Amino acid sequence: MKKIFGMAIIAACLSVEASFKKMNSESGVFKLAPLPYAANSLEKAFDEKTMLIHHGKHHQAYVDNLNKALDGKKVKLIDLLTSASTQSATIRNNSGGHWNHTFFWSILSGKESDNKVSSRMMKVIVDKWQSFENFQAEFEKAGAGHFGSGWVWLVRTTEGLEIMGTPNQDNPLMDVVPRRGWPILAADVWEHAYYLRYENKRPEYLKNFWKVVNWKAVDQYDKEALKTKLP
Ligand code: MN
Repeated sequence: MKKIFGMAIIAACLSVEASFKKMNSESGVFKLAPLPYAANSLEKAFDEKTMLIHHGKHHQAYVDNLNKALDGKKVKLIDLLTSASTQSATIRNNSGGHWNHTFFWSILSGKESDNKVSSRMMKVIVDKWQSFENFQAEFEKAGAGHFGSGWVWLVRTTEGLEIMGTPNQDNPLMDVVPRRGWPILAADVWEHAYYLRYENKRPEYLKNFWKVVNWKAVDQYDKEALKTKLP
């Protein structure tokens, strides 16, 4: 009983994982954190094998290659992103790869209660895109239309919410995008994110992506973004 109670507390903490402070405090030798849920818990959109390879091989490789490139130099991950334009391609790609995937895992969940859009997020999205379906269509279009590997983001900028695409492992925090902002939602559109189940059908992957979005985390990121100055 005691053990079960302890696990319930851990589960409760994981469900409100979203925190830029936590994301951006990482420094030194970087480590791959475990997925915040079981690899098979996103089955309604992503299969277990994809999750295991994506996290254990791809994300791990970004972490390993970043550590190798830094060669013991102690830096904050966020400082590498905000100065991406002056970093080597290796550091830019792998620091982005590490941050982006850490963020991506945190905005996903297989739990029904997390997959429900909060009334606050619904309102800010409808205010901007007229309907939630319009927003989804715009986001899917940006993802499906993105040429080659990259990411599609929902970003809180000083101008409000916007949908943004970035190539490779770039992200909206880097000093290489036209307008920087806080990412609050992201879809990885690299083939490694969807090829096993969806083959070459990226639009189908993006349609199913909505089934596993953790809107509690998105809502929390957006609230933080509204009151936190960009680094
Ligand atoms: Mn990926």
